[in-house]
Amino acid sequence: MEQTLSIIKPDAVAKGVIGKILDRFESNGLKIAATKKMQLSRKDAETFYAIHAERPFFNDLVDFMISGPVVVSVLEGENAIAKNRELMGATNPKEAAAGTIRADFAENIDANAVHGSDSAENAAIEISFFFADREIS
Ligand code: GDP
Repeated sequence: MEQTLSIIKPDAVAKGVIGKILDRFESNGLKIAATKKMQLSRKDAETFYAIHAERPFFNDLVDFMISGPVVVSVLEGENAIAKNRELMGATNPKEAAAGTIRADFAENIDANAVHGSDSAENAAIEISFFFADREIS
């Protein structure tokens, strides 16, 4: 069993597709072990995406992530990290495979509907950034 962190980003929350996206996870064998809707502060977003601090799009990314509420979830299941990445589709929605979350709900690379941890190490860091152990079951 593996756990991964998912974020439904502000564009998808604003579109009213939280339920549709969570259904993709549950319908594909990923259990929702924790979930909450929240407004990130600028410091939250800068800390969460610190790995991208030197990238040219960092400020746009932070501005976007605090432009409205997000839904953060812990997803659990066999190969949860890879399975979530597969369900999400490519970072750029224009390159995302048909039927993926980004192909169906995202407009462009700036507003691409979802985040998913990309490794076991990052999943552990990202989950503990948002959730206390007692919130995950
Ligand atoms: P992910 O793991 O598929 O989310 O992709 P990355 O970790 O490479 O990038 C993190 C996030 O930064 C992406 O989901 C996008 O929202 C954003 N991003 C990545 N590349 C670009 C880019 O070239 N331009 C802009 N504006 N945003 C980008």
